[in-house]
Amino acid sequence: MEDESYEILYKVVVTGDSSVGKTNIISRFTSNEFAMENKATIGVEFGHAQVQIPDGTQVKVQIWDTGVKLPPIIIFVNNPPTAGQERFRAITRGYYRGAVGALIVFDITHAQTFRNVEKWLSELHEHADTNMIIMLVGNKTDLKTNREVATDEAKKFAQKNDLLYIETSALDGDNVKEAFEQTITAIHQKRA
Ligand code: GDP
Repeated sequence: MEDESYEILYKVVVTGDSSVGKTNIISRFTSNEFAMENKATIGVEFGHAQVQIPDGTQVKVQIWDTGVKLPPIIIFVNNPPTAGQERFRAITRGYYRGAVGALIVFDITHAQTFRNVEKWLSELHEHADTNMIIMLVGNKTDLKTNREVATDEAKKFAQKNDLLYIETSALDGDNVKEAFEQTITAIHQKRA
């Protein structure tokens, strides 16, 4: 629907290693679709969604994929440019500018993607607003038998670093809506 009314827009970025499921989490949230193929991400709009937070406020979520520099206020963006590359510094700044929230996604079946969360966190701390709400997202809970990261370990890390924590499956849709809703609600509470 094009004419939905909303009261607030927030910019949120979605980050984390490649192949952890960022693209599918975003498309699950906006259109309830799941793509099995692992397509390289290019700068196209995914769509949008609207979230009603507990105080009744309507928040519009406008979702963009990598590289889009237009300024809608809630933007969920995919992979930022690789950190540390001099010529990408300006783009990196633009990617984080004005963001009030972030989802850092890792894959619970690949421990390395959890270890790399530290790197994504420093990237956020270096470039983004210090007041940002950050949700750590452990994705692919449908692959139970391949789990390499214990829920408790991830929760402890989140607590220590002042992050929210949720586990999702973009495949079966479990907790995807909640991940976005809880992030947006926390952002709104902090700013109200
Ligand atoms: P991105 O690079 O972080 O955007 O990751 P994608 O969304 O492109 O997903 C990478 C691969 O993981 C694709 O093959 C997806 O089908 C798969 N995938 C993503 N989320 C899930 C999930 O929750 N469960 C399972 N089993 N596979 C997933």
